[in-house]
Amino acid sequence: MAVNQVKGNVSIDAENIMPVIKRWLYSDKDIFLREVVSNACDAITKYRMLHQGTDEHMEVLVTVDKEKKTITIDDTGIGMTQDEVERYINQVAFSSASEFMKQFAQNENKDEKNDIIGHFGLGFYSVFMVSEKVEIDTLSEKEGAEPVHWVSEDGMGFEISEGTRATHGTTITLHVSEEEKEFLDVWRVREVLERYCGYMAYPVMLFDANAKPYEHDEPIEGETDEDGKPKMRKVTEEPKPEQINDTNPLWLRKPSECKDEEYKEFYHKVFHDYEDPLFWIHLNVDYPFNLKGILYFPKLKEDFGVREGQIKLFSGQVFVADNIKEIIPEFLMLLRGVIDCPDIPLNVSRSFLQNDGYVKKISGHITKKVADKLTGLFNTERSAYEGYWDDIGPFVKYGCMTDSKFYDAVKDVLLFKLTDGKYKTLNEYKTDNEEKASGKLYYTSDAKRQAASISLYTERGIDVAVLDFRELDAGFMNFMEYSGNCGVKFARVDADVSGLTEEGEEGKDLDENQLQDLFRKELGNDKLPVKLAAMANTDLIAMVTEDEQGRRMREAYRMMNMPESYTLVLNRRNATVAALAGRDPEDETTKLLCEQIYDLARMSAKPLEAEQITEFLARSQKIVSMLVK
Ligand code: ADP
Repeated sequence: MAVNQVKGNVSIDAENIMPVIKRWLYSDKDIFLREVVSNACDAITKYRMLHQGTDEHMEVLVTVDKEKKTITIDDTGIGMTQDEVERYINQVAFSSASEFMKQFAQNENKDEKNDIIGHFGLGFYSVFMVSEKVEIDTLSEKEGAEPVHWVSEDGMGFEISEGTRATHGTTITLHVSEEEKEFLDVWRVREVLERYCGYMAYPVMLFDANAKPYEHDEPIEGETDEDGKPKMRKVTEEPKPEQINDTNPLWLRKPSECKDEEYKEFYHKVFHDYEDPLFWIHLNVDYPFNLKGILYFPKLKEDFGVREGQIKLFSGQVFVADNIKEIIPEFLMLLRGVIDCPDIPLNVSRSFLQNDGYVKKISGHITKKVADKLTGLFNTERSAYEGYWDDIGPFVKYGCMTDSKFYDAVKDVLLFKLTDGKYKTLNEYKTDNEEKASGKLYYTSDAKRQAASISLYTERGIDVAVLDFRELDAGFMNFMEYSGNCGVKFARVDADVSGLTEEGEEGKDLDENQLQDLFRKELGNDKLPVKLAAMANTDLIAMVTEDEQGRRMREAYRMMNMPESYTLVLNRRNATVAALAGRDPEDETTKLLCEQIYDLARMSAKPLEAEQITEFLARSQKIVSMLVK
């Protein structure tokens, strides 16, 4: 089986193809290393399959030689015969490239072009993005195989000749072009290898061919000088290749064999977060698809709004990309983790993923696992789950709003934090507040500012939930009421007085219209709605309320500057209100009283504005001085 000298062109069209490929195929040049190193690992796997039980040491050695301007990638894998080089390297590349050209020609849209490109396995040819010449030296493991040498300067013309390699496997030599000489820096290559090859299945070794021997002093054992100090000698250490990867990543191990400490250590290392994660899910599926991974729930950071999670996608231990939305449901992007799906191609394109039923199943499965974990925690470790809630609540709520299956799975374990620090599910809230809350869930959006209104409810034994995550909670409430069929209406503590009323004889004969006229006149506000209500707390004179739906609308369309629209609710069971009704509207003190009552009512809903405070203080001083007279 002698090697025939062959010279040729990959194809007649090749001249048109390579520049296009160079420009379009990989926006990210770094991936050339991933492509060749993963080919090398595949070649080792193939060798091991043919020679089961072999105890040969197998590794991929990447050598950077800045002086010679080369990077070599050497493996101890299956190797290629001449026939295979022609078939796998020359022809395969050509057929997919010409297919690519056909589609490329038909498509004008840049994004879609990028999509098309992703379909073609032109992995090996990516080396031409950084090389001015590429050589392959290979020896097939087949008995009697001859070593083969392949060389190409541009990925178009090639030459095959007899090679010199003596052991099975392949060496790829990249003669790095002047423009891409950054790849001749060892640190740059290390960075790329760590990113893409950090968890590949065989040792990936990095060697700096120009590294100098390292000299240092070493104590000589058992020998001391006159002062009793150990004698030293000079030792020279030859530079050695350094292993880049962890060949047995945690996510591939059996969950039952992984310790908590290992999960945490892995998290710190991969996500550079010194804090521990709250908890995690180890995904380990073999059927109906192959999916391994670990998802971590991180602690919420102050800057939650801007922080993105990070989910790294691997395909058979080869890093593919971060945060691929098609595989990871969007709301899970707030988590951190690794997902390994060996059946996903390395050069994933968006359109491939979007249209792939398999990918949808993976995404659905991940969602289900997350929901199972949350319900599991709720059922077996309720207090720990409550402890996590402040951190995971925003994520769970967001998940409910964006994924109805997820909502269905977790709706019974959604918690509401109450103003007293306790946590209740919706059902618990409903049961505990059934009598007084009548179909409402009372909440505060700001426990400090609304403290006075909150206490009116809590004094009556009604729970008030804290929903203060601004836009998120506003969206969540709308979702729960309209799509979530949750069976309650959310009402802020200052939305109305229905939860605070209790029948009583006091002030039954008061005339609502008369009081409205009075207040409108005294306050100089002829639009103010004034209502009478019988409140449980007879000490309370008045409250202001703003209709829940109206307020939500106003807040949602903040840009449109809709006016606030308050109603003054007078407590007819309060003696002051009854006395006020009988007063002379022309009397100066009636005006003072009305203004003071209105301000007090407003203040318990929210702090007064600067101008209102000034007026309030001046009036209060006047009242005080009137009282001493
Ligand atoms: P893909 O890996 O997607 O098949 P590539 O262009 O990267 O496409 O490689 C083409 C083929 O060349 C591989 O499928 C393999 O058969 C062969 N090949 C590439 N590199 C090696 C190697 N280091 N050892 C053995 N065969 C290789």
